[in-house]
Amino acid sequence: RVKMNGKNNFMIFDPSMNEAIQRKASLQQDLKLAMKNEELELYYQPKFDLELNRYDGMEALIRWNHPVRGFIPPFEFIKIAEESNLIVELGNWILEKSCRFIMEYNQVHHSDYCVSVNVSTIQLLNEDFEKSVLNILEATGLNPDYLELEITETVFMHSMDIAYEKLNFFREKHINIALDDFGTGYSSLTYLKSLPITTVKLDKSFVDDIAYNDISFEVVDNVIQIARSIGLTIVVEGVETKEQLQILKSLRCHKIQGYYFSKPVSDLELPLVLDQYE
Ligand code: C2E
Ligand code: MG
Ligand code: MG
Ligand code: MG
Repeated sequence: RVKMNGKNNFMIFDPSMNEAIQRKASLQQDLKLAMKNEELELYYQPKFDLELNRYDGMEALIRWNHPVRGFIPPFEFIKIAEESNLIVELGNWILEKSCRFIMEYNQVHHSDYCVSVNVSTIQLLNEDFEKSVLNILEATGLNPDYLELEITETVFMHSMDIAYEKLNFFREKHINIALDDFGTGYSSLTYLKSLPITTVKLDKSFVDDIAYNDISFEVVDNVIQIARSIGLTIVVEGVETKEQLQILKSLRCHKIQGYYFSKPVSDLELPLVLDQYE
């Protein structure tokens, strides 16, 4: 690899030093093609309602099977997409595919599942985002009650005013808003009350040792009770054991998501998972 350095000087790229940079540059290129070449796929992880004792929906999670590099984890390429603004196109693709999927799924299976779609902060803050969401709902015919947008608290760090305005707009349109990864950032319980959201998703790290660690137990208990008291739905992520499930049930957690019930699965496998509780 040769790169121009200044006017007429050449600089040789040291491959060992720049492996990470090169991987990033090449993934950025490949990601543009991946959308066209159908290397991207959505997987779905069901969400279980502990009060109704049934699944009530699923979260769409993007998968990229790169033809040469194999599976690339979403946290890696979502970041790359954000840096190149490709996230807007990718995000719309994910949103449209998710809405179309749940619309058809519910029709075929006579069900009423909701779909939760992760929205990157940069995607949300894009000025055309609201318009895109409404266009997608119209194009797919999905009732907005069946759509939930999962955002993270970084949304509120960029611009509180714009974030509030956008989220209030979606709430008026009856689109649900979940605050994802709660507890991993600066989020505090006191400000939850003021946010234009409908759901809080407590991060997996809190539930990992809930069965052995009194402090974790206390924290989860508090978050659940406060979320309930201010009228938010509480979902706990990353539930892997029956013990965790039983504790969360005793704490009156609304919903859980995790490998205990199911890993994220392809659209073909999803009915097999969901039908176990129908
Ligand atoms: P997230 O939205 O918090 O999604 C939950 C992650 O936890 C998923 O990882 C899921 O597979 C994993 N998970 C769920 N239950 C368990 C469990 O019981 N044990 C363990 N060990 N893991 C569990 P995944 O699919 O690798 O996604 C990672 C992150 O990448 C997501 O975190 C989200 O921030 C981002 N992401 C994934 N898909 C999308 C997408 O379509 N759009 C955007 N913007 N971001 C996405
Ligand atoms: Mg999520
Ligand atoms: Mg999360
Ligand atoms: Mg996460």
